[in-house]
Amino acid sequence: MTLRDLPPATHDLIGIGFGPSNLALAIALQELASAGRPLDAHFLEKQQDYHWHGNTLVSQSEMQISFLKDLVSMRNPTSPYSFVNYLHRHGRLVDFINLRTFYPSRMEYNDYLRWAAAHFAGQCSHGEEVVAIEPDGREGPGGRIDRVRVRSADAQGRERVRMARAIVLSTGGTPRIPQPFAGLQGDSRVTHHGGYLNWITRQPCASGKPMRIAVIGAGQSGAEAFIDLHDCYPSAKVDWIVRGAALKPADDSPFVNEIFAPAYTDVVFEQAQAGRDRLIEEYLNTNYSVIDADLIERIYAMLYRQKVSGQFRVNLLTRKSVQAAQAVTNGIELTITSASPGDDASTESRRYDAVVLATGYERENHRRLLAPLASYLGDFSVDRDYRVRARSELAVPVYLQGFCQSSHGLSDTLLSVLPARAEEIASSVHDALTAQRRWTAQPAQAGGTQAIAAT
Ligand SMILES: Cc1cc2nc3c(=O)[nH]c(=O)nc-3n(C[C@H](O)[C@H](O)[C@H](O)COP(=O)(O)OP(=O)(O)OC[C@H]3O[C@@H](n4cnc5c(N)ncnc54)[C@H](O)[C@@H]3O)c2cc1C
Repeated sequence: MTLRDLPPATHDLIGIGFGPSNLALAIALQELASAGRPLDAHFLEKQQDYHWHGNTLVSQSEMQISFLKDLVSMRNPTSPYSFVNYLHRHGRLVDFINLRTFYPSRMEYNDYLRWAAAHFAGQCSHGEEVVAIEPDGREGPGGRIDRVRVRSADAQGRERVRMARAIVLSTGGTPRIPQPFAGLQGDSRVTHHGGYLNWITRQPCASGKPMRIAVIGAGQSGAEAFIDLHDCYPSAKVDWIVRGAALKPADDSPFVNEIFAPAYTDVVFEQAQAGRDRLIEEYLNTNYSVIDADLIERIYAMLYRQKVSGQFRVNLLTRKSVQAAQAVTNGIELTITSASPGDDASTESRRYDAVVLATGYERENHRRLLAPLASYLGDFSVDRDYRVRARSELAVPVYLQGFCQSSHGLSDTLLSVLPARAEEIASSVHDALTAQRRWTAQPAQAGGTQAIAAT
């Protein structure tokens, strides 16, 4: 009998994805267990081993957040999982202090996260992609669903089923592919920035052959790709195509930064939806379509040096919008128009050997994975504790991390509130499961919503 033939294991909690959000949760759950409130939690991660946005880790990329906002310090500065302890354990604390920075490289932060994740190796199954979360066929006492089936598949397509009494879904974003490129998915000449490093090493410019490459998108990823292509691939000619008239800096000034404080989550959540939307809109320039100011300086200097030398290998094309993209025999042809309405609406065609889409991420994959539970979960709106509001028949609490920006604010998709959020969710799961066990003997009140969260 193989492992796959055994009856499915049941866990108190299954966490989907093992990025920073669920890693922070694993740490919070360990603290809870030490305080006498243990839970049997298991995490499923589709990557074969730990990488944090591994295909974007170009050598010059730096964190956009202080190392003090690591997985745990803001909640528990004495935790062994702090970034400072990581440095200490690796013999680099003094050297890091000498760097005099709050912003480690993303490579180092990835190494920190890997180190922290290794402590939870026994609680995470890597190389398993969750494909669906379904109601258990069996109804519990009073007609309630008190377990869900979590179906995953490994790289060979072999399926495995586990049962869970609670779910925390933290699967991150999925690449946003603009409409003109929708038909080019799978074309090896086009990549989203999320797959950049693996892709660029297979391009002709990696072995010194000439190439023309377009980078699309005016945010941090576009800037990083543009600099990397300039610095590391001298045979590449690069056009960076952006809609705006200028590259804009991310606002990380101190007063504005207060919106990323854990307490600000309450400020956003307590508003009616229109107020939340206003707050989010007001501070979009902290995170979306903006670039770290020091990278902007670097890019400006780079372009200035080209003016001095008279040799133009990389170009920034502003106020341009890609209307269409077509695969042709010798490249990808882009139809590009001036983006601003008052301009002479000129349209031009440009051909490139390859295209990098630095076009951001969508946060929708929770809907796909939870689709079998949709009739219980309604519109996927969440309570303050990140628990999806559900019909009372679903006794399994479902939590979302990274999909709650519209209710919890801009920090939801970032690292800033991980320690506080992890503790809130850990504690809420514990309370919900305690209530679930208490209610197994009682009849359900069909049709209600969120009755199970009421104690
Ligand atoms: C290039 C880049 C740089 C960034 N830099 C910063 C920064 O400096 N500061 C900051 O605050 N934020 C930054 N962010 C935002 C980023 O969202 C957070 O840093 C952080 O990664 C969020 O953690 P997460 O665990 O919610 O999501 P993710 O880190 O995306 O992790 C999700 C995990 O779930 C796994 N997964 C997905 N689907 C499945 C499935 N079906 N089954 C099993 N596993 C699955 C993925 O493989 C992944 O490991 C950056 C984002 C990117 C893309």
